[in-house]
This record gives sequence, C-alpha cells and structure tokens, in this order.
Amino acid sequence: MPEVPLQADGLVRHPRPYPTESLFGYILRLAEDNGYPTPHRILALVGIRDTHFSSRRIPLRELARIAHRDLCELDQIAYCTGPRQYCILGRPVANYELKARDQVSLCPECVRSAGFIEAQWDLELMTGCPVHRTRLLSCCPKCHLSLRWLRPGKLECTCGAMLGRVDGSMLPEDEAELLEVVRCKVLGLQVSQESSTGMPISQLSALSLRGLLSLMRTLARFHLQLRTVKQLDDPQSVVTAAAYVLRSFPANFHALLWKIGEQDVRERCGSAVRSQFSEIYASIFKFRAGDAPETWDFLGSAFLDFAINQWCRGVVDHKLLPRLQKSIPKRLITRDEFGKRFGIGKRTLRRVLAVKSIRTITLHHGKKNRTFIDLQQLHEPPSAPGKIFTLPTAAAAIGIGARALSKLRASGHFEVKYLLTRDGYHERDIKQFIERLLALNPNPTNKTLPSDCITLRQAMCRYHGTGEGGASIIRALLSGELRVLGNVDGTVRGLFVSQAEFWQFGKNDRARQNGNARTCSEVRKEICCDWGCVEGLVSVRLLDGWNTPTGLRISEESIAMFKKKYVSLLSIAREMGRISRTLMRHCARKHIPILMVKHPSKETMHAFVRIKDRNAVLSYRPRCLWNKPQSSIQQSAWLTDEVYAAQVYPRLREASLSQIAAAIGLSIAYASEIRTGRRRPHPRHWQALAELAGAAPFPVTCKVGIQNQCLSTGAFGGLTD
Ligand SMILES: [Zn+2]
Ligand SMILES: [Zn+2]
Repeated sequence: MPEVPLQADGLVRHPRPYPTESLFGYILRLAEDNGYPTPHRILALVGIRDTHFSSRRIPLRELARIAHRDLCELDQIAYCTGPRQYCILGRPVANYELKARDQVSLCPECVRSAGFIEAQWDLELMTGCPVHRTRLLSCCPKCHLSLRWLRPGKLECTCGAMLGRVDGSMLPEDEAELLEVVRCKVLGLQVSQESSTGMPISQLSALSLRGLLSLMRTLARFHLQLRTVKQLDDPQSVVTAAAYVLRSFPANFHALLWKIGEQDVRERCGSAVRSQFSEIYASIFKFRAGDAPETWDFLGSAFLDFAINQWCRGVVDHKLLPRLQKSIPKRLITRDEFGKRFGIGKRTLRRVLAVKSIRTITLHHGKKNRTFIDLQQLHEPPSAPGKIFTLPTAAAAIGIGARALSKLRASGHFEVKYLLTRDGYHERDIKQFIERLLALNPNPTNKTLPSDCITLRQAMCRYHGTGEGGASIIRALLSGELRVLGNVDGTVRGLFVSQAEFWQFGKNDRARQNGNARTCSEVRKEICCDWGCVEGLVSVRLLDGWNTPTGLRISEESIAMFKKKYVSLLSIAREMGRISRTLMRHCARKHIPILMVKHPSKETMHAFVRIKDRNAVLSYRPRCLWNKPQSSIQQSAWLTDEVYAAQVYPRLREASLSQIAAAIGLSIAYASEIRTGRRRPHPRHWQALAELAGAAPFPVTCKVGIQNQCLSTGAFGGLTD
C-alpha cells in the first residue's frame, strides 16, 4: 500500500464526524486526536484569522480538505445552511436557540459514553441531561472558570482538570421528560411514549424542533407573566416553566388560561373568546414553524375545550379553530342550536328550559344579549320517543286520582323529564314515577293486609283532608312521613301503611294546611267536649282561634296551654264509668271549682276542672252518692209538694238556666223545662233548688254563678292559680 504523502497543511489523523456530532465538538476532537493542545491550530488551518469560535460559519470546504472528509459529511452537522438560516443536524432552528459561541455546557457522562460531543448540547434550552438526570457541567470543577471550546480535550479543561460526573440535585421528572423529547428530536431518535407526569409526549414529539422550542418559550413567557419572549433570559427557568405547564396536560394548561383570563377579562364579558385570549392564541397558533396544522391540534383542542366548556365568559364563534370545533362537543350552545339538536320548536324550547331548569348563560356582547344553554346541566335529553298519555289514563296507570296526579305534577313530585308538550304524560315519566313509589316498599310483596294497616287504595278513598285529593298522601309517602310497610298486590294501590300513622298524618296534614292550627272537630276530640264548647272557649280566649272560609281554626299552642291547665269533666267521668252530672254534684259538694263553658247559641254548658283538682274528682265514691240523697231527703222533709209549688218554683224564674242546671247537675234543657214548669223535678233536687231560690240557707259554695260572670269578661281570677 503506497504511503500517503504528508501534506504541509494536512493533519495526521482524520477522524470521521459522527452524524449526531456537534460541529464545534468535532473540531475540538480533531485537534485532540492530532495532539494539538487547543483547536487554535485547526481554526488557523481552515483560515479563521482570529482563531476563535467567533462565527458559526466555519469554512466547511477547508475543513473537509484538511480533515480528509467528504464535504457532505460536514454539511450534515453544520450550523448554517444559508444567510440567516440556522440549523442543528439539519433541523432548522432560530439563531437564539443555539448557545452563544463562548458558552459551553454538557453532560460529561454522555460525552464519555458516546466518545464525542453530541449536537444537543449546542441548544440553549438543553439545560439538563435526561439520560443521567443531571444538570449540565458549565464550569470546571477545579479552576471554576467557564468551560470553553478552546480547551485541550473533550473532557479536559485548560487547567488540565478532567471533567467528571456532575454532582447536585437530580433533574425533576417533568423537566427530564421534556428535555428527553428535545434530545430525541435533535438526534432523530424515537421517543418513549409513556409519561409519568401526564405530559403529551407523543404530540410534542410530532412537532418540529423549532416548533417545540418556540412552544416552550411561549408557554414559559405566559407562565412567568413576561411581556415578550425576549425577556426570557434564563434558559433554566424557561424549561422549568414549560415543563410545569405541559405536565398533567391539559389541566395545567387550562390553569394557565384561567390565570390569563382572570387577569385580563372582565366578569361576564361577552366578547369573542378569540379576542379575549388574543395574545396567547396568536402566540401559540399563528406561528407553527411550518408544521402541519394537525400537529398543533392537541393544543387547539385543549384551548377549545377550555373556551367551550370551562370559560363561560365569551362567545365561541365559528372563527375559533373552525377545524376543531366540529370534533369537540360544545358545552354552551345557542337556543337555536339547542332546538335544532333536539328537534324542538321555539315555543316548546322555552317550556323545556323552564321545566327542566336547564341553566342558561347570558353574555352581553356590545348592546346585544346572547343566551346560551349549558349542556353540562342537561343530564338527560329533553325528548325521547314514547307514548303520550292523557291525564285520566296516566292517573289510572299509576293508580291514583287524576286530580292528585295533576297536583303532584304541579308540585314537581311527578317529574316531567321527557315531555315537550304542555299536556299529556310521557310513558317513561309514568313508569319512573311508579317505580319510585314501588321502591318505597322495603319488604317483599305481602299478600295479606295486616289488621292494623290500610292500603293506599283505601287511604285515598277515605282521606278528604285538604282538598288535594290523594296528592298529599303520595307526598307523605315520598318524603317518608308515611312509611310503607308492604304491598298486597305489587301495584301502587296495594302499598300499605299503618293505620295509626295514617291517622296521625291526616291530623298533621290538616294542621299544616291550616297554618299549624286544628279544626273544631279535632279540638273537640282532643279536649273531650262538644263543638259549641270549643267556640265558647275561643270566645272567652281560653283557646286562640280564628275564622277561615272552611270554619274555625284553633292554634296548636293554645290547645296545648289549655290542656296543661284544664281537663274535661266528661273525660274523667268516662274514665270512671260515671256520667258527668254525678261528678258535677260531687264537685259542688267538695267545693271543687268548675269552669263552666257555655255554648254560644244554645243553652248547654260544658264543665272543666283544673288539672290539679283531677285527683279530688277521681276520689269520688258512689257510696257518697247513696248517702247524699238520703240525707238530702231527710233534710228536705219540710219541702213538700206545696212548698215547692208555692215558694221554690216561682222564685226559680229569677234564676238563670245555667244556675239551675249547675245546682241540680242536669242539662240546661232540663233546667229550662223545670223553670217553665213543664216538668216538676224529682224531690231529691228540691233542696238544691230551694237553696238556689233563696227559700232556704245556701249551704253549697258552688262558684258557678260567679264563674259565669267571669266568663263573660274573660277574667279567670277565681279559677286560675
Ligand atoms: Zn448524560
Ligand atoms: Zn479548569
């Protein structure tokens, strides 16, 4: 093999450049391999006068000649492809994306394992090594001076120190993932698709290198709230900010948009979203670095999703990313669009919105107000195919009265989800309502009705409570006030509840209807007296009552107050198995005060005693009854027929009926007959009548007379404590 003659301007060794090698790195390696202490000599050989890396425009033809390489090999790793056109390994980048010529930083581990300096370290934004998860070395660990290209070797400082492993904090996960995309982009490698930080790795790696770097700077600029990209002077902060915005995509991106929107856009401002976010919109979507529009769709979709579904303060018009609008389901749509989508006419639409209480958003756009419908509030489509029933058929299908059903619909208990027309009942709604009612039954269907229970069918027939039909019963069932205990036949009508509970419900329901008041009939049962007596108690203000179109109503409170103080003599008599007249006599004898209440129109009276006298009344023993008449007969020996007719009877006309009735313990009617003379009382009453008439000394201190006077004034000093 003939020896190659040594050329004066040539080099001894001619290593070939690696396809992914940095051009400056290659020159350094060329010098190192040929034993030069710095690349000065190489630079001098290629004709660079100041023998510095003062320009990226290395005369490649010269270099190829001295290095004995093909020009095309060097062209692959050149920094310039034309005037003002910069690139890295053939991939176009902006000039400012390349590190300044006097700045050197690299990962020594990567250089050692590759055997050369890779091109990615020429990029300014390459601030860490994603392979070794370290920061880069930019200063000599020994002399602490910045690394320079003019040094003896790839891993050797001018001071002679060998560049070793970089100590310090690990590169954060998100930055490492982002830088790995950049590294693979530069070196033309496949990026692993997986991301542990939620970064859109595959979408980012589909971008061109220039587009990717530009996106990183744009996002960092908005995240760091700077006015222009030029203010981003620290590459490290750019990478950190961009990695933050891009991780958990699109959540952090949306958060960035929220931040921008809330700073710049007034609340409920209705202008176009595109103009509200014009700055970031233009920065991201106007400059695409020659990439196909689809490659930016992931950002466009995220932006549109934000505009449509999150940012409810702007109009998303057809100009905003029209290509993507078709594929992204809208959240806010106009009423016309809503109507078209569900086949609803304008008139029905208004009702549908009201019935389904779908949220609408009004945006003020100039002088116009634009109303949008929030589809997120629409949990079910407003219409569905199905039969429409009339009110009677629907009610019959459910098993309740038509009146009840219409009341339930009016009160919202019967939910209208599917119907669009004003009248009629959708079969799905009916079915759902029946299911809802049947689901109230906690037990399996019970064929026999327990004796203390009542089916819904019976309850509906019997209950006429508050003019709501059976609606209030159904409401009570749905609210749980009435507990369903079982079902006799598996239909709504077959549901049964406890009779006692139903009775109590009826009472409560009427009270509720009457504003926490009870009817006369309820009070009558409660305090054990008659209708008139209740009115009497109201007239003397012992009960608090008022008139309504459907009759007198008594407040719950006053009933409770009254029951605390008084008890009806009738109820004690029933308890003892006596008649109240007997007990009245007993009270008169024992000086137990009685509250006599007069019927407002009739001459009947009703007696109450104080609660504290109840035991005294209960102490009554029949023996006394036997003794009393005997003694009274004995005492009234002087009272003959003649004496009664001549002395007692005429004077009775002066006495009031109530006085007479109280004295003898008989009814007002009977007293009236005695007074008119139609009836002559039994001789055992004569003594009492004689005492009343003043024909004999008045031995019984019955306060009835006084009582009645007091009643008329409403004062009860004598009876109350
Ligand atoms: Zn490394
Ligand atoms: Zn050094």
